[in-house]
Amino acid sequence: MIASSQRMSANPFQKKAPIAATKVLSEYVLSASGPEQFPKEEHPEIAFLGRSNVGKSSLINALLGQKALAFASSTPGCTQAINFYRVDGAYTFVDLPGYGYARVPMDRRLEWKKLIESYLLERGALELSILVLDARRGWMAPDLELKEWLEAHGKATLVVATKMDKLKNQSEMQRSLTNLRKGAGEAMLCSAATGRGVREIWQAITTKSQRSQ
Ligand code: GDP
Repeated sequence: MIASSQRMSANPFQKKAPIAATKVLSEYVLSASGPEQFPKEEHPEIAFLGRSNVGKSSLINALLGQKALAFASSTPGCTQAINFYRVDGAYTFVDLPGYGYARVPMDRRLEWKKLIESYLLERGALELSILVLDARRGWMAPDLELKEWLEAHGKATLVVATKMDKLKNQSEMQRSLTNLRKGAGEAMLCSAATGRGVREIWQAITTKSQRSQ
């Protein structure tokens, strides 16, 4: 995967460009509002989970070097569907609807839970769940709850905190990482805005999905 995306940016003058600028062959497959609409299981699936507005769609776009393949929305809590993207003939990225938006009524929240659980529990192709946090805010109650749920169900998980460009300096970055790692042994910082950390996330995806094969 990494090798093929690097192939696409073989120009040595682009060596220092953030990987976010490197386009990975990818396409939108479909949006599903229930398990009966899930696509056929083709490739290992990488699921992205996080609170509404945390920066999940932007992170997917950054990983794929796309401006707007994943639907980045400024209206938190509006997406109640699972979006599937085919990535370089090697993976399927799965964007799960954001949770924890206070203004979403209880019945919608329960629908969310049912939809997400139907995906996480039933999908044989699921290789890795990426739990996306905001680097400035760190762990919030629903994130911890979800992490515990994933652990209890034996799901391989990677914790990624995005928007690191909003951390002002090295010591804020260190503090953020320390807090993140208190909630999870391993956590990575990144920014969809600058592309920092995106390459390392790709490496982690490749390693972890190989490990579970
Ligand atoms: P989602 O609801 O989790 O999919 O979040 P979005 O990807 O739609 O992002 C929510 C808001 O955060 C948007 O205004 C994005 O432009 C902004 N955002 C996302 N990622 C970053 C980042 O890495 N840095 C900064 N500064 N803003 C970001």
